[in-house]
Amino acid sequence: MILEAHVVSELQACINGRVIAPGDAAYDTARAVFNGGIDLRPAAIVRATDAADVSRVVTLARETGLPLAIRSGGHSIAGHSVTEGGIVLDLSQMRALHINAGQRTAWAETGLTAGAYTNAAAAYGLATGFGDTASVGIGGLTLGGGIGYLVRKHGLTIDDLLAAEIVTADGRLLRADAESHPDLFWAIRGGGGNFGVVTRFQFRLHEIDTVLGGMLMLPATPDVIASFIAEAEAAPDELSTIANIMLAPPLPSLPEELHGKPILSATLVYAGDIASGERAITPFRRLATPIADMLRPMRYRDIYPADEEYHPVIAARTLFAERVDRATARTILDHLAASTGLTTVAQIRVLGGAMARVPADATAFAHRASKILITLFTLYERPEERPAHEAWTTAFAAALRQGDEGAYVNFLDDEGEAQVRAAYPGSTWSRLVAIKRRYDPANLFRLNQNIAPDAL
Ligand SMILES: Cc1cc2nc3c(=O)[nH]c(=O)nc-3n(C[C@H](O)[C@H](O)[C@H](O)COP(=O)(O)OP(=O)(O)OC[C@H]3O[C@@H](n4cnc5c(N)ncnc54)[C@H](O)[C@@H]3O)c2cc1C
Repeated sequence: MILEAHVVSELQACINGRVIAPGDAAYDTARAVFNGGIDLRPAAIVRATDAADVSRVVTLARETGLPLAIRSGGHSIAGHSVTEGGIVLDLSQMRALHINAGQRTAWAETGLTAGAYTNAAAAYGLATGFGDTASVGIGGLTLGGGIGYLVRKHGLTIDDLLAAEIVTADGRLLRADAESHPDLFWAIRGGGGNFGVVTRFQFRLHEIDTVLGGMLMLPATPDVIASFIAEAEAAPDELSTIANIMLAPPLPSLPEELHGKPILSATLVYAGDIASGERAITPFRRLATPIADMLRPMRYRDIYPADEEYHPVIAARTLFAERVDRATARTILDHLAASTGLTTVAQIRVLGGAMARVPADATAFAHRASKILITLFTLYERPEERPAHEAWTTAFAAALRQGDEGAYVNFLDDEGEAQVRAAYPGSTWSRLVAIKRRYDPANLFRLNQNIAPDAL
């Protein structure tokens, strides 16, 4: 405690940004993360304003040995961006974005959210692909890979990453790209926050303005689910889909007779000419009489609805699958009906396309050949019920596994080392451990899906 009080005053003296400590009116809001089940009380939350602030915080954490959590958008499902005691380095004030429309590149500070970046780039008719939610930070999302509405057309977010500026454990600010520290550049494209604090990313932008997209809601029968996935796999690369299978919530916007019935609520984005897009989405509309069909030509940025402040308590499990046939769909529906939580959502993303054309060893995200990503989210009320919902969601995931033992790091919960290793199969793991030893030998950056420097 004495050490922590001393560190808080030292931080207040040397940081340009704001330091928030217990007792501060902003403390409870500042320590809250997306996952409402996480309730940790750091000694200090430092809202850095620039790379110099970042370097000072990193150095102080190293010298004092206090735990250090890095926060961009605060959406880590495992709650890694906050800590009990110790320091949270909060990058949310670092939101500068410099777009070079002529070169179609952008330098983006890592406190930006996917929504803020997308909105700003839309002013030039340009976009970089992030995930499905506006409030997710580009920091965590990019470092884990980044799978979203342009995955089949342009690949993962990291496939558009050209360079990064990163403060390493020794407090130095390095540039990592294909020429400078190429090992580090390889590692941060999928390896998460293990190697330092990224202050800025340089991204490639694509000409994407109007797309054919939006939500399509269908009744979820085994046939409809399996056919939807088959159509998504057969579709041109311009079309990416994210399908959420769940029991219809009792919302006034949904007919009462539907409440509690299985639905498939999908978002589709066709990033190409609208007439071809209409042809590509027609088979989806024909799978069943839609409950809602909001597919239309739209600005790409409008694919992100306005986010509300929302802190669900969640257990998540993620896996890759080879197929979603009728039997798999039936397993999903049977489990949804038996959820131990308030509700469970099974989210299915068909991969392939540009993502699959990058060699598996080109980045630390190695699941290029995986065909389908399935993520299960169980939402529940009381954090003390966590063990039961975690166990149930684990069993649900086990029932869906088909042999691909990989995992997508960005959707990992707090699941232990075996699942972190699953995110980095084969030689990816040993390569990452060697780079970790080089840049963070004392494991200063350990509040993450951790790759320990002494791991075998
Ligand atoms: C509602 C929701 C929707 C999502 N949708 C998608 C999606 O569509 N596609 C997808 O790919 N993922 C998605 N994710 C997963 C998401 O990519 C990860 O949770 C990601 O870690 C969140 O990034 P963040 O910056 O918001 O999180 P934070 O909690 O702030 O950061 C998570 C971790 O990333 C590391 N980190 C963050 N920023 C930096 C930095 N600048 N330097 C070094 N390390 C850093 C740290 O280790 C930190 O603990 C979603 C998550 C949620 C909760």
